[in-house]
Amino acid sequence: MKKGLIFSIKRYSVHDGPGIRVTVFMKGCPLSCWWCHNPEGIAPGVESLLETRKVGDLEFSEPAVVGKYYSVGEILEILKKELVFFRQSGGGVTFSGGEPLLQPEFLKDALMACKDLGVHTAVDTSGFCPWPDLEKILPYTDLFLFDIKHLSDTRHLEHTGVGNGSILQNFRMLIQSGKETMVRFPVIPGINDDQDHLMRLREFLAGTGKGNITRISLLPFHKTGSSKYRKMGLPYRMEDTEPPSAEKMKELKAFFSETGIKVKIGG
Ligand code: SF4
Repeated sequence: MKKGLIFSIKRYSVHDGPGIRVTVFMKGCPLSCWWCHNPEGIAPGVESLLETRKVGDLEFSEPAVVGKYYSVGEILEILKKELVFFRQSGGGVTFSGGEPLLQPEFLKDALMACKDLGVHTAVDTSGFCPWPDLEKILPYTDLFLFDIKHLSDTRHLEHTGVGNGSILQNFRMLIQSGKETMVRFPVIPGINDDQDHLMRLREFLAGTGKGNITRISLLPFHKTGSSKYRKMGLPYRMEDTEPPSAEKMKELKAFFSETGIKVKIGG
């Protein structure tokens, strides 16, 4: 059975689906969003980085490896220790990234095994993948967390490195399949928060079959990943962008609530 390349496994996660969850961050993403706060998850291979550590006033650089191969069995061993929390909180496992569908065979095997164990499964995806890969995991995925970043193909290409054609097509087909889906909209000032785009997005979500969209999560831009760019020697293009205010997020919550879909600020 294929192994999966993973760069982090987070226990007690409460922002990636219902209840208390284990989030498995799979390495590799075909997008390169300007605001990505997990840049170490983008390259699809094991990487060696220089980590800076501070001891008192002294700074040391030491090599750190990002990415490790796990078998499905190893993932299950981690999940088995959390079953009691899953049961009590209605939680489960979320496969995130990176883009989990970049490793479709491993993802399918892992989801199947989690379902056999009776664990609730969620997949957090950019939606950028061939539809057959998404279709193959439908039977083993209880919930999709689906990112919609920009409805303009040109702006999507400019800010994420890929166009949105297949993403929106996959989104429509996912909604038609009847699978429970929560939409995640990262609110990125100056990129996707202009009134014209917000109106288009609200119309799109309201018209795409709200019955199966059980929530819209508005994810405010933040800069917590910026230091990782420095460590990795990558340019950070969001240095001059400030996070949206709490007031603005409240306004957006009211604005998207007019779709009739439940709206939450945060994951
Ligand atoms: S899709 Fe997500 S993981 Fe991939 S680059 Fe964008 S923000 Fe980062």
